[in-house]
Amino acid sequence: MAAAKEKPGVLFAAFEATPFLKTGGLGDVAGSLPRALKKKGFDVRVVLPKLAVIPEKYKKKMTYITHFYFPLGWRSAYCGIETYTYKGIIYYFIDNESYFKRDGIYGYFDDGERVAYFSKAICEIIPYLEDFNCRILHCHDWHTSLAPVFLRECYSGNELYDNIKTIFTVHNLKFQGQMSDFVLGDILGLENVPAAANQLRVDKDSINFMKGALVYSDIISTVSPSYAQEIQNPFYGEHMERIFQRRWDSLWGILNGIDTTFFNPEKDKAIEANYSKDKMKNKLKCKLALQEEMGFEVNETVPVIVMIGRLTQQKGLDLLTCVIDELADQTLQLVILGTGDKEYEDMLKGAEGRHPKNLRVLLKFDEKLSHRLYSGGDILLMPSLFEPCGLSQMIAMRYGTLPVVRETGGLRDSVKYYNEYTGEGTGFGFANYNAHEMLFALKDITSLFRSNPKVWRKLMKQAMSEDFSWDHAAGIYKEMYNTVLEEN
Ligand code: ADP
Repeated sequence: MAAAKEKPGVLFAAFEATPFLKTGGLGDVAGSLPRALKKKGFDVRVVLPKLAVIPEKYKKKMTYITHFYFPLGWRSAYCGIETYTYKGIIYYFIDNESYFKRDGIYGYFDDGERVAYFSKAICEIIPYLEDFNCRILHCHDWHTSLAPVFLRECYSGNELYDNIKTIFTVHNLKFQGQMSDFVLGDILGLENVPAAANQLRVDKDSINFMKGALVYSDIISTVSPSYAQEIQNPFYGEHMERIFQRRWDSLWGILNGIDTTFFNPEKDKAIEANYSKDKMKNKLKCKLALQEEMGFEVNETVPVIVMIGRLTQQKGLDLLTCVIDELADQTLQLVILGTGDKEYEDMLKGAEGRHPKNLRVLLKFDEKLSHRLYSGGDILLMPSLFEPCGLSQMIAMRYGTLPVVRETGGLRDSVKYYNEYTGEGTGFGFANYNAHEMLFALKDITSLFRSNPKVWRKLMKQAMSEDFSWDHAAGIYKEMYNTVLEEN
């Protein structure tokens, strides 16, 4: 263990990480990036909440380290630490049943308090982590955004903490944790710390957790270079654009990777038949099996379009609302897998009722089914209003399913748009957030699918040849870590 202490320690803090917890891209990233960073020479450990929904098989293997109490506003909060090593990474789970023994991950009336507790617990556990030279606290999204604030305001003067640099990564700027001003004193206990109160406040009645992280962290990063530019503008900045503008020289945009071992059509056990870019024949088997499973006509010439993701405004559901009937009137089959806002779920279910032959709407979260869609689809539709990075388009390309994306954020940085003159490309794009632009693009693309299988096959091969592994991104993270460690 002595060797571990010589490596710079990075404490990676998130509210979800695969294989323990996942609702979306954050879970994928926090589950796979630490392993890639470890290979770059950092002692990366991950801290997560011990939520009741973590599968029993992992909970059973966790071992108890210690427990203690710490102040959270007027409360004395229990904090247990448990640990489990998975694929070479040490995970710490923070145990507090009153905050974490719930039937889901998010969406509770007291999420503000749960998140504040978790953020402070992250700081509190640091002295208990054995053989760990903690040099960087790397926090992700609003659930951990108060940790950099607490670290500076409640623990400075202690050498252990003064040695730690903080990085905050924005995966989703939409959720910031806007709370009543009352929270500042009652939960955070920071009402008498003028700097914190000023930095957290957005107006006289409310505070914003994420604003704290954006101001207090030594470095801010987000998950694609394009998005790092976009959030400096009001359209994408979600009222934080002025901070991003001011801190542009501490703002990094690093495109996510995916876990290419987990998402691997050559080995994936969840799909009908395995295939690779050099042996594509079995992809057709996956398509025909998907058509059968969905109750569609089994016909290889009909393009199958899949959509996988949260059913929210961000994911372009308003565009779909406008043209769903026109789209379903085309010769194509459309499968939508996701959960989200009720208005969109209802709209889609209504449309499914009107188009039973070629529209299937599956309102659930189902990892294995998503793999059958990634492998069985011809096209993945991702018409996002904004997209910090997006993983679905990368997973789709890995499975030879060509993405059709709106040209924004990480979609712009990961998909090479088809060029009919050179034959280059790994997918398709449309520029404006406009329903008919999307519809006409899809008409052109499905017509290309039907009329030119040779070009289509070439594009599939090109998409499957792209390298979406974490290796490249981890190299840039390493540069960012070294930069923050060198700063005074
Ligand atoms: P987000 O904005 O939700 O993080 P991403 O595209 O970055 O979107 O990541 C979404 C991840 O969650 C992908 O791995 C995708 O396959 C998965 N996913 C989303 N919705 C579902 C669902 N309903 N069932 C299975 N997997 C899903």
